[in-house]
Amino acid sequence: MHHFINKVIKTMKNDKMEIVRKSQSSLSRLFFERMEIVLMPRFGAGIKFSVYPWALLLFAAAWLALTLYALFAAAQNVDCKIIKADNNIMKTKFAMIAEELSRNRKYIEMSHTTDEQMRQMLGMKGGKHINRPFGEEEEINFKEVFAKNPTEIDEKQINEYLSRTTEMAQERLASFQEIAWFYANQKNISDSTPSIKPATDAVITSGFGYRLSPFGTFIASFHKGLDFAGKPNSKIRVTADGVVRHAGWAQGYGQAVLVDHGFGYSTLYGHLADIKVKAGDVVKRGQFIANMGTTGRSTGVHLHYEVWKDGTPVNPRTYF
Ligand SMILES: [Zn+2]
Repeated sequence: MHHFINKVIKTMKNDKMEIVRKSQSSLSRLFFERMEIVLMPRFGAGIKFSVYPWALLLFAAAWLALTLYALFAAAQNVDCKIIKADNNIMKTKFAMIAEELSRNRKYIEMSHTTDEQMRQMLGMKGGKHINRPFGEEEEINFKEVFAKNPTEIDEKQINEYLSRTTEMAQERLASFQEIAWFYANQKNISDSTPSIKPATDAVITSGFGYRLSPFGTFIASFHKGLDFAGKPNSKIRVTADGVVRHAGWAQGYGQAVLVDHGFGYSTLYGHLADIKVKAGDVVKRGQFIANMGTTGRSTGVHLHYEVWKDGTPVNPRTYF
């Protein structure tokens, strides 16, 4: 039984090999034996030629490869054209950016002129952020730069130009801030500088400086202020913006008001009748602060007015 099966298997193997050999031989015949191709026109004699099938196959393969290559090349060319078109768009965009940059520079230069005019109008001298003139050599013709090939563009030069532009804009801002600060300060100074008469409808009866004492001692004394004689209870007005430091009795001055104006200025009003303010009050120039009287060491109804600058009494006549 076993022997029989083995024999059958052997036979089958032999058969299989036979089939393979046969198929191989028919396959090789198909490839390596010449075949005849006849081209027959409808009329007249035909053309007959013989070829090897493998040659035909080779030819077909070559044809396919060529076609594929041609397609690939065509695609590459399209890609190349797209890149070129992109390049042109980019160049146009760069040119626009370049123009924009140049325009921005112009605006900064214009603000530079405005800056100078403002400084002149305000009588500003010096300052940290005074305009620095622009160097001609800094100008870059961006149109020319971007017309170049990207590899030829000097990045360093452009970066320097851009950072210089930023720097200039920052400088301008700092300068304008300086001007604004100066103006605010200036305004404060002018508001804080005594600049009106403390009493109108009054006569100046005694000037600033050395004089004989009005109390008959015949000793030359220094009069630290101005005396304004007027009607009793006439209005006394503060001569600049400030803060009341003292309002009340003061030795020698009677009822008195002392106002601190800042920036080294203070004013004093003496021999008052009726004080309308108290210490700590913020007062504005021209504000009614008291009535004229004759309190303290006084010989008649009058206002004693002093202006102090940096700790020294100065002539009030120069402050109205
Ligand atoms: Zn006086």
